[in-house]
Amino acid sequence: MSNRQDNPGSQPSAGGKLVVVSGPSGVGKSTINREVIRRSGAAFSTSATTRSPRDGEVDGRDYYFMDRPAFERMIERNELLEWADVFGNLYGTPAAVVREAMAGGKVVLLEIDVQGAMQVHEKLPEATFVLIAPPDDEELRRRLTGRGTESDESLQRRLGKARSELETARDSGIYDHVVINNDLETAI
Ligand code: 5GP
Repeated sequence: MSNRQDNPGSQPSAGGKLVVVSGPSGVGKSTINREVIRRSGAAFSTSATTRSPRDGEVDGRDYYFMDRPAFERMIERNELLEWADVFGNLYGTPAAVVREAMAGGKVVLLEIDVQGAMQVHEKLPEATFVLIAPPDDEELRRRLTGRGTESDESLQRRLGKARSELETARDSGIYDHVVINNDLETAI
């Protein structure tokens, strides 16, 4: 994995552009992406998921919340660009949403886990892949605890998953950029 500088010339300028952002749970990627989207006018690709909405999450904005049979129908119909099982829930990117936004010449941002990013890389290696990483393990633990939505068991699971996700991401070699979320404004 390299830390190379932005190189707009490596992407076709006509048509849309796909930016895939991954990073472990609690690393602050939603906050960063929300601001990046607000400032740049990029389109956010709303994912489908079988997990329950958290407080404040809105169906169709944060996720398309659905039950497992509905999600499995999307898999069968080949309607997902990628999908993954994360903590026992299914998450996936509806291909149509990405296709339409890209056809409209938009920059489309996918916020997906590393398993999903690797699938997108196989299909669309020309996309830009960004990994958001915590400054260190302690900071990650602090942020996961601070969110207050996690039970002890869920916190341990997410910490373990975060560590292995970072390792898998580093080993995958697909990421063009690594953003260390030390200072929010700099990360954005
Ligand atoms: P959360 O439940 O905290 O919203 O998300 C859990 C994990 O699922 C995060 O790493 C998030 O990036 C990932 N995720 C969200 N949407 C998708 C998706 O469409 N595909 C994949 N592969 N991962 C996703």
